[in-house]
Amino acid sequence: MQMVEEKQKVCCDYCKSEDLKMAYKAPTTSRNLEVFVCRSCGFIQSWPRLSGIYDRVTSVSGEADWGYIRYGKQLRLDASMEIIESNINLNNIKSVLDIGANRGFFLNNLSKKYPHLDLTGVEPDKIITKESPFNSNIDLFVGKIEDYESNNKKFDFIHSSHTFEHMTSADKGFKITYDLLSDSGYFYLELPRTEMIDREDFITEFFIDNHLFHFTRDSIKKYANNYNFDLIYEEKHDWENHVFIFKKSKDPLNFNPEEIQNNYEKNYELLTSYSKNRKQNLADLNHAGSEINKMINSNESIAIWGMGRIFDIFYHYADVNWDGINYCVDKYLPDYTSEVNGIKIRRPEEVLNNISIDTLIIFSDAYIEDIENEAKKILSSVDKIVSYNNLMKRK
Ligand SMILES: [Zn+2]
Repeated sequence: MQMVEEKQKVCCDYCKSEDLKMAYKAPTTSRNLEVFVCRSCGFIQSWPRLSGIYDRVTSVSGEADWGYIRYGKQLRLDASMEIIESNINLNNIKSVLDIGANRGFFLNNLSKKYPHLDLTGVEPDKIITKESPFNSNIDLFVGKIEDYESNNKKFDFIHSSHTFEHMTSADKGFKITYDLLSDSGYFYLELPRTEMIDREDFITEFFIDNHLFHFTRDSIKKYANNYNFDLIYEEKHDWENHVFIFKKSKDPLNFNPEEIQNNYEKNYELLTSYSKNRKQNLADLNHAGSEINKMINSNESIAIWGMGRIFDIFYHYADVNWDGINYCVDKYLPDYTSEVNGIKIRRPEEVLNNISIDTLIIFSDAYIEDIENEAKKILSSVDKIVSYNNLMKRK
């Protein structure tokens, strides 16, 4: 039989317009993904819409091939629980569905804290569901939400964190969620905040190969509006995540006109300046590298905290003499991998307990303050603490 490769017609997932403009292609994409902006509504989305879990590589990367370890949800658990508990009384809820249950962090936590809850998880990744134990009272469906049969069961609360951007249709995701909710049921939705790429010193690749949709605040509200969700909560200060709580309703939301306008121009500009800035930042990283090498050459005792995506970019672009770094630590990564680019990763408490160092360099964006506080607690003394982006600034 002759296989004919069908070329997908580029069509906006939100407004169905075919008038999309290609705005960006990650230089390191291995799926040939191109990022488009819809001229009719402004929604940012990638093509082609391939689906499925592909071979897992447990390497840490700051480029487009990142996304296989999937430990981000563990980092977010405390923050999302706080938001949920201050907006929803979980004692009055009977059933919960987690779309993209991942390693079970969220559901296991609920099962411990709220044993009365009837819990269901849907997660297509066979490897991580096998690796990570889900509590025995959790009903787990290993597959995609599109294939999940609820047999008319409705849920009082649906949770979905960092999952809709992986779907082949976000529109379908919203429809399925709406249909699975009981009347007045709650929907917690968390997604990467695409607007964060407006930061001038961005160095990691935002448009990774397993993200097909790139939500901005207004695009999430437009979808919610299409499916008659009421807005209960909207996070406005988180730099890297959009967090919303919606409630199933019978009428569409009433938005301010400026919230549902076509943001095509603005979003196209966001992508083109990100592309330009990132290219320049990568070229400039040797400056930051030589700042680190200066510390090494003056025999400072140095620790690096954060061995994830930012570290990987520094490793490849900054030309640092890595042998001169005394300690390389990360709080979560050692659970999943023992080294990054051949450099062994230690847990902070393993090597930094009660010792004195000259310099701590933090390779993180969202957790700079947390890391600083934690480091001060376990180190006996540290002379200076710098974040990676401070090293990038030319004096
Ligand atoms: Zn559109």
